[in-house]
Amino acid sequence: MTMTMTVKGGPVEATEIRVRDSAGRQRRFYGELLADVSWDPRTATQAKSQTSEDTARTKGVRWTDMILYAADPDRYPYEYVLQIIGRSIVYHDITGHCNRGTRRLVGDINKEEPDRYEVLQPCPRCRPKDLSVLKDKDIVSAEEDRYSLYMCHTVDDLVDQLVDPRIKAIGGLGQRLLDEAAQKNYAIAQLKETVLDL
Ligand SMILES: [Zn+2]
Repeated sequence: MTMTMTVKGGPVEATEIRVRDSAGRQRRFYGELLADVSWDPRTATQAKSQTSEDTARTKGVRWTDMILYAADPDRYPYEYVLQIIGRSIVYHDITGHCNRGTRRLVGDINKEEPDRYEVLQPCPRCRPKDLSVLKDKDIVSAEEDRYSLYMCHTVDDLVDQLVDPRIKAIGGLGQRLLDEAAQKNYAIAQLKETVLDL
């Protein structure tokens, strides 16, 4: 008996979903949300779908979100869409030595992203002035959210994407993503039951 068939995830209740690619552009596809997990390395907060405001309250300033979708099998050759977002609400002094973030007018941040403006936190190393004392025409260097987007043809491709190269294993956040997705997706639920040839 030859094993060439890949275990499939199961039926997908497809609705239109928007994600962002690595250039920050919105991309849309049809699929179903399987799992949404969040982790902040500083506070080890494991709140699900944590908002920026929650994070600011718990004093975390950088964290990672992982969101996994099943793609509509009638439309796409890939089975999963994985969105990973590196979040940051830190801003730096432009004359400091941190060399991180993008230079922006304080007034522009306030006008274009008022929610973000509310939660931005000064970098503890270069210690920029508080936003409340800076003027609209002042410039700070604000870190931005970083998006990664992966289309995975099979559950094995998904596992490969979740392997953290630093530890050569799936990290804690990736494992939680799979555990949560296993409740909705047969192929992911079967991961630990499947025997593969070396
Ligand atoms: Zn700094």
